[in-house]
Amino acid sequence: FIPRIAVVGRPNVGKSTLFNRLAGKPLAIVDDRPGVTRDRREAVGRLGDMDLRLIDTAGYDDEKKEGLEAEMRAQTEIAIKDADICLLLIDARAGIMPLDQTFAEVMRKAGKPVILLANKAEGRAGQSGLLDAYSLGLGEPVAISAAHGEGMSELYQALIDAI
Ligand code: GDP
Ligand code: MG
Repeated sequence: FIPRIAVVGRPNVGKSTLFNRLAGKPLAIVDDRPGVTRDRREAVGRLGDMDLRLIDTAGYDDEKKEGLEAEMRAQTEIAIKDADICLLLIDARAGIMPLDQTFAEVMRKAGKPVILLANKAEGRAGQSGLLDAYSLGLGEPVAISAAHGEGMSELYQALIDAI
């Protein structure tokens, strides 16, 4: 059993950075649902001794585009549906934004196991956002730095607990 892990969250929280850190060999995507093929990436990856199937949700090419929120929601919902576990990222430096709450809501409705990751938590700048993350009501956030590789053993443990 190789768990399918969807990496979700609003733009710029570090989803692709985490995906790239965990990903090994890229997988071809065959998906004829309009509007999602373009941006979804999948890969097999590894964390410690754990094999993973990773689903990255999207580079949105224009953050100000009309209908973006609907597009993000649709993509995220498809990724969640395919996933065994979801990683919801927030930016611990930026704090909680309204869109983070939207994603948290989508997660709650999906009823899938979710691990809340407070990314960009390296150094002091991430501390306040880490505390804010509790307000999403998705349990205790795991502090990570996808860019610096911090918090990976805590992520590993959270995955073990969620499986
Ligand atoms: P995505 O839109 O959610 O996929 O976010 P990206 O992975 O493209 O990252 C957005 C920006 O955040 C980039 O400039 C990254 O270098 C930066 N970033 C990602 N992870 C970290 C981190 O752990 N710490 C810091 N300081 N920056 C990060
Ligand atoms: Mg991305």
